[in-house]
Parts: sequence; structure tokens; C-alpha cells
Amino acid sequence: MGTLTLCINRRIKDIIGSTTLAITAKVNELKANGHDVVNFAAGEPDFDTPKSIKAAAIAAIEKGLTKYTPTSGTQELRETIAAKFKKDNQLGYKPSQIVVSCGAKHSIFNIIQVLADEDEEVLIPAPYWVSYPEMVKAAGAISKFIPTTAKAGFKITPEDLRRYAGNKTKILILNSPSNPTGMVYSRKELEPIAEFCVKNNIFVISDEIYEKLIYDTQEYTSIGALGKDIFERTITVNGVSKAYAMTGWRIGYAAGREDVMEYVKKFQDHATSNPASISQAAAVQALKEPEDGIRAMRDEFRKRRDLMAAGLKDVSQISYVLPQGAFYLFCDFSKLGFSEQIARQILNDVKVAAIPCDSFGAPGFIRLSFATSAERIQEGTKRIKEWIRQQAAC
Ligand code: PMP
Ligand code: GLU
Repeated sequence: MGTLTLCINRRIKDIIGSTTLAITAKVNELKANGHDVVNFAAGEPDFDTPKSIKAAAIAAIEKGLTKYTPTSGTQELRETIAAKFKKDNQLGYKPSQIVVSCGAKHSIFNIIQVLADEDEEVLIPAPYWVSYPEMVKAAGAISKFIPTTAKAGFKITPEDLRRYAGNKTKILILNSPSNPTGMVYSRKELEPIAEFCVKNNIFVISDEIYEKLIYDTQEYTSIGALGKDIFERTITVNGVSKAYAMTGWRIGYAAGREDVMEYVKKFQDHATSNPASISQAAAVQALKEPEDGIRAMRDEFRKRRDLMAAGLKDVSQISYVLPQGAFYLFCDFSKLGFSEQIARQILNDVKVAAIPCDSFGAPGFIRLSFATSAERIQEGTKRIKEWIRQQAAC
């Protein structure tokens, strides 16, 4: 018998595992072994899912809603999502234009597989969420990164698009509020971006998963709401993970042109079918919840953001731009070395877990999540400052 040579599919063989998930696993392992780790790596709210949402899931089990649902999600959930889009985002999607998936991650993955053909280009502003380029690889398409700077608020402009878009450009991925930078695009900033995409026939995937977590403004603009033409070219993605502390329930959703969404549905037919029926019932309840719960969570996150920012304010070796949304402080550690090495040392030496942003297209930067208690934020920033002092003394 000959030796079995392992030949992995060429679209899959270069895929890199998720840094966020790997570090989270490492933190859990250290904690299980009794280490007092401050977790600034978490990409999820530390709050518990609200009781009323849990109750809706329990009721669904008791009512026997434990069977397959339509692949795209139950009619009730899609109607509830359509109503949410209308109320919060001024987006007029019909339930037939919505597909519910196993998390917004799954929604984005589906859309990229459906729209991006081999060798077509997907524009990704950098820094970006770690999973986008890997999803593009899986489609056999090409990521084209648009660099941004702290000075420009880590945002792209139409000039950037003119520079980086070409005749192979198919999609632009926009993520506002952004993971990892926390930046939020205003309506004024989105308008010329929308105009460019319409003129150049570029689809926009608008990842709005952190929509409810914005701090210094009440205004939130969905790019798809800026006119009929951009609405046609935008697939809007959202989910319940971040706004309702429901990361484990795995419900995300996408809405767009009927023809595109029909392919998303067909693709999902053969992958996962519907997302869990019980989680869908819980998501209906989440989206009908009064806004007070979200407001309370957001106010708490704002306090924590300010506490973390204040804790690291006077450290001359590092800098940050105050995030307007999401729950990450995106810090420039480049004066101290490479981010992967720094994050490893901080974890080893003072037991603070953080995400090095090399795989977010931001070498030299480290993402510190403030989705943890005020007490842990104070403890963690104290440890980081102490660690930096020790480095300076060496
Ligand atoms: N987009 C961004 C920017 C994220 O940070 C995440 C992380 N959870 C997701 C999408 C996916 O969220 P989920 O799959 O939990 O809905
Ligand atoms: N999106 C979160 C993060 O960036 C959760 C982990 C993940 O799915 O990547 O940390």
C-alpha cells in the first residue's frame, strides 16, 4: 500500500484558525487550572441572557417547537426581524428577503460564498474582524485590504475606494461599530461611500452586529437606508449575540435582494438547514424586548469603557482612540514590540488575556475587551501598567 498523501482542498488549506477563539480557549484552560486570569480577550457580553428570553425558549420546548423549521427561519421570526429593520434602521425588507442563520458569522460566511466568485476581489478596511479574510479564502476569492489610520479614525473615505477598487471588485465589507477599533460611521461619512458603490456596482455587506452598543451618539445609520440604489446592493447583517447577551444561542440574520437571499437559502439548505428552533423562539422574544434592558447594558459598557480608558491614559508607551461603539479598547503597543509576543508575555507574566491584532490586519495593536466587571478592569489595567513599568526598567 502506498503512503496516503494529505491533499487539502486548495481553498481551505491556507485557512488560519480564529485567534479570538484560540485565546478564549486558553483563558478557560488557565482558569480551570486555578490561575487568576483577567480576561480582556472576551468578544462577548459577560451579562446573562435576560430571564424573559430564557422563558420564551423554555416555553418553546414545552410547546413542542422542537422540530425543523423552514431553512430561512420561522415566519414569526422573519416578520419580527422585518419590523426591527423598519423601526430601528429605516430598512424596508420583506420577510422573504431575510435568512436567519447560526450566528451573524454564519450569515456573513453564506453571503461571501454566494456572491464572491473565484478571483473576484472583496474590499476589507483594515483593521478588520479576524474572520472576514478567512471567509473570503474559503470562497476562492481575494481579499483586498484598505489600510486606515488612527488619525483618520480608522475609517475609509471615497478616495481610498477609488484607490483600491478595480474591475474585479465585487464586495465591500463595512463593519460599524467596528471590531476591533470601536469606530462608528456617521451618515455623512457613509453617503459618499454608498454613492461610490452604486456607481461602481459593488455589493456592500454591512455588518451591524454591534449596532446597539454605541456610546457618544444616539445616531446610527445603516448604509442600506441611504437610498433605493444602495439598498439594492446592500446585504444587511445583524444578530442577537451582542445586544441581548445571547452569544451561545447562535442566531444571526441577513437581509438583501430577493434573488441573492434565495441563493443564501439554497446554500444553507445543504449546510445546516434551519438554526435551532428553540433559539429562534428566544430571538423573537429578544427582538420584542423593551429597549430598557439594552440601554442598561449599554450604560454599563460606557462606564467600563471610561474606566479602562482612564486606567491606561497616562501610560506613555501605549495609545488609543476612544471607541464610540462595541466593547473593545484598541491600543497601539507598537513602541513595545510585536503584538503577538506582547500579548503572550502579558498573559504569562501578569495573567491578563488580550487579543493581539496581527490577524486583524493591525500588527503592533492589542485589543482589550471591557466586557468584564469594573473590579476586573481596574485589576487588569493595574497589572498591564505594572508590566509596562517592568519592561521599561529592564
Ligand atoms: N461580526 C463581528 C464584527 C463580530 O465581532 C462577531 C463576533 N461575534 C460577529 C460578526 C459574529 O457574531 P455571532 O456569530 O455571534 O452572531
Ligand atoms: N466576535 C467575537 C470576537 O471578535 C467573538 C469570537 C469570534 O467569533 O471571533 O472576539
